Amino acid sequence: MKLTFTHSALALIGGLAAQALEPPEPIAPSKWAGENIVLPDGEYAGQKIDLARTPHIVEPLDLLGPDESVNEIGVIKCAQSAFTTMLQCAIGHSIDRDPCDMLVVQPTDGALTDFNSTKLNRLIEMTGVLGGKDGKPGKVYPQTSRSSAGSTTYEKKFQGGALNLALASSPADLRLKTIKKALCDEIDEYEDDLEGQGDPLELIAGRQISFLASGTWKRAYVSTPTIKGVSKIEKIFEGGDQRRWHVECPQCRERMVLEWHAPFDPSSYGLKFNKAFPFNAHYVTKCCGTIIEGWQKVAVYRTGCWIPTAPGPGKFPTYHFDALASPFVPWEAIAQKFVAAGDDPTKLKTFWNLYLGLPFDVTGDAPDHDLLMQRREDYKEGHIPAGALLLSIDADVQMRGIYVEVVAWAPDQQSWTIFADYLDGATTDVDSGAFAELTKLHAREWPDAYGNKWRFDEFGIDSGYRTDVVYEWTRRHPGTKATKGIDGWGKVPLGTSTDQDVDYRGRKIKGGAKLRQIGTWPLKSKFYTYAALTPIVQGSTLIYPPGYCHFGRFLDENYFKQITSEYLEDEVYRGRTRKVWKPRASRPNHFLDCRVGSLALVNAYFVSFTADDWARRAKERGIPAELQAPDLFTPREFQALPVGVGGKREESERSSSSRDLPEPKSTGLYGDGLADLNKGTW
Ligand SMILES: [Zn+2]
Repeated sequence: MKLTFTHSALALIGGLAAQALEPPEPIAPSKWAGENIVLPDGEYAGQKIDLARTPHIVEPLDLLGPDESVNEIGVIKCAQSAFTTMLQCAIGHSIDRDPCDMLVVQPTDGALTDFNSTKLNRLIEMTGVLGGKDGKPGKVYPQTSRSSAGSTTYEKKFQGGALNLALASSPADLRLKTIKKALCDEIDEYEDDLEGQGDPLELIAGRQISFLASGTWKRAYVSTPTIKGVSKIEKIFEGGDQRRWHVECPQCRERMVLEWHAPFDPSSYGLKFNKAFPFNAHYVTKCCGTIIEGWQKVAVYRTGCWIPTAPGPGKFPTYHFDALASPFVPWEAIAQKFVAAGDDPTKLKTFWNLYLGLPFDVTGDAPDHDLLMQRREDYKEGHIPAGALLLSIDADVQMRGIYVEVVAWAPDQQSWTIFADYLDGATTDVDSGAFAELTKLHAREWPDAYGNKWRFDEFGIDSGYRTDVVYEWTRRHPGTKATKGIDGWGKVPLGTSTDQDVDYRGRKIKGGAKLRQIGTWPLKSKFYTYAALTPIVQGSTLIYPPGYCHFGRFLDENYFKQITSEYLEDEVYRGRTRKVWKPRASRPNHFLDCRVGSLALVNAYFVSFTADDWARRAKERGIPAELQAPDLFTPREFQALPVGVGGKREESERSSSSRDLPEPKSTGLYGDGLADLNKGTW
């Protein structure tokens, strides 16, 4: 009897110990998220996340759990797609149920901070099992300054592992230690090569090698795409089984993908809408021609499931998700964005990338220089034509002389070259030679069509050559900017300024030289798209489209040869093909550099100015009163834009090109990509 008692006591003790050591029951990440994750803000703040509202993230999320044999997934997506939420849920589940070393990689400081501070930290805080609740500690060790065991801003520690947040541009970040799981966000913005240290995606993969044998590693690639043929996520998507979200036709129940197809052709399938307000966006199904109205979109979306469109042995799951299906973007907003983009390649790229989740095909071979010469017009050299409200000057310094172009701009981005010249003379001194001539241009006043005179609005000077002289000249001439062109597709037109003058302690000197980088590649595409535009003949008048480039008869053949001097070529770089700009043999490109510089300098006006801003500027310029009315500066499609088109009233009422997207209702964690929708810098 005594023996039996002892035995059962041992069994009891043993059982308790086993219970403590035994891993918890396996649970799929989506189920775990539904039971644990609490939304920090938005419409459902304080409530558990309900993935029934976003069924499209359930499958890829579950594939990131330890019970699935899949190692890799790739997601090519639009903005507003909830895939950031998916990554966050995967992280939370892993910390609680599959603790290990993990890495999250973001392309920029801003993206990393946003992911960490505005999303991950709040998710951990709100989710009791991770951040603690009612005085009980959670799994993530709190951030304490004194203990090395605690978490830090960029490292979340927990029992059994740590989550590191890394920058794709920092080789040191990517080389830290071995990791089991890597979550790579916005990979299209990663560099191809980190200063000779290699491809960031290869560096990340290299850290998972020790998990290859056990097969337990996981890697997710998520990104909005960029340029066709260059896009990293496009290649990954195409290498996988290409799953698309198939919804049910509400009439005949056939499964289909909502497609972008001939939006203005009423006789075919796809998303249809009018070219102006009211857009009346609706979907016509391919199967039976049924019309799905905008208000039915979310219900139809929820009938969806993932089906591979390119299955094959050994192919890993890849997903494409766009705004046609996304429950966060009304069809009306898609229509509005597309109509607003018009022929502007910058805006079309944004539409393609952030709404359709597709890479944009840059075309960009220069138009023939003879054709441009034939288009020359009889406007007066050095005079600002009617309609222009901005004046930019850009200069390109050479060994013996400076190329300079002066461009007048209308609010719809029509441009007139009003002056182009080579200022002959030495460029070694700020006070003499060519720089003395440049100083005259700095002070010059240019007559407009109404008897007023203006000076420049923007003045840029390339500092790639004679850098110190250029800096000194910009220090002495207020309102001028030293610039430097950089290669690459993911670059913004004009970077923020960096101080070039610092004292011996490394502090910036007031009034010192500042340098701004110019993302030249996308701007060259933009210029060539605009230069290829032709006027529309309407009766006896010519109508010039937005972005049209006017050239005066005073411009010579050399000017036209220079501005058309480059072309796009496919280049194989580290085993990948990418599109690069190449100069034509023995053709100088200085005037092209000047135009690209001007495009960079004026870009911010076209992105941020509203019709009222332009009207105010017209008034300041002394333009006749009848030409100052804001509606003259309102793009035609938006003159009657109503309130409440698929979003907030204030957003819809704005007519400026950059602010015309109605902001979808914030739903807390689901609201990823809001900032992305405004990042359409090119
Ligand atoms: Zn049907």
